[in-house]
Amino acid sequence: MRVIASREVYSNPIFRVAEERALAPDGFEIRRDIVHHPGSAVMLAVDEKHRVLLVRQYRLPARRYLWELPAGRLDPGETPLRAARRELAEETGFRARRWKKLASFYPSPGYVSEKMTLFLATDLAAGGASPMEDERIETRWFTRRELEAWLRSGKLQDAKTIAGILYWMRFVVKSEEAKRERAAS
Ligand SMILES: [Mg+2]
Repeated sequence: MRVIASREVYSNPIFRVAEERALAPDGFEIRRDIVHHPGSAVMLAVDEKHRVLLVRQYRLPARRYLWELPAGRLDPGETPLRAARRELAEETGFRARRWKKLASFYPSPGYVSEKMTLFLATDLAAGGASPMEDERIETRWFTRRELEAWLRSGKLQDAKTIAGILYWMRFVVKSEEAKRERAAS
């Protein structure tokens, strides 16, 4: 498909909206209103007790408080990793010495271009948080057992959080366990 038209209809400092048309070689055409977004970093911070840090804040579109992995938008020209380091410190006060990219995904590709990059952050040091003026963020550490219970019961409702935790449990925790088992046998 080739984008053949893009007309901006709204913009603010965070995203812009455009009416767009795309055309396939066989003449098939799609027309959509698209939200252009610079992308975000999502941080899965794990402490030495294998607990995960979640943040709780009021989400106006959802009309409710949600527990989520900390995350934030990329500044202009910023790489996902730089944004991850900055946002983790701003939202939670934690700084991590070890960073590893785990996955990237589109949370809602039907209408928004936002791409999220998920990072594992370990070897943590606590410090002071500096949230934005309109952010009020509560933080809490969750054990794996608690996360599993909340996933199963539907208490976690944020997509990046569900995807990130399931990815971590399946591909990080499982492989660490296998490594320990191999070393012990
Ligand atoms: Mg945020």
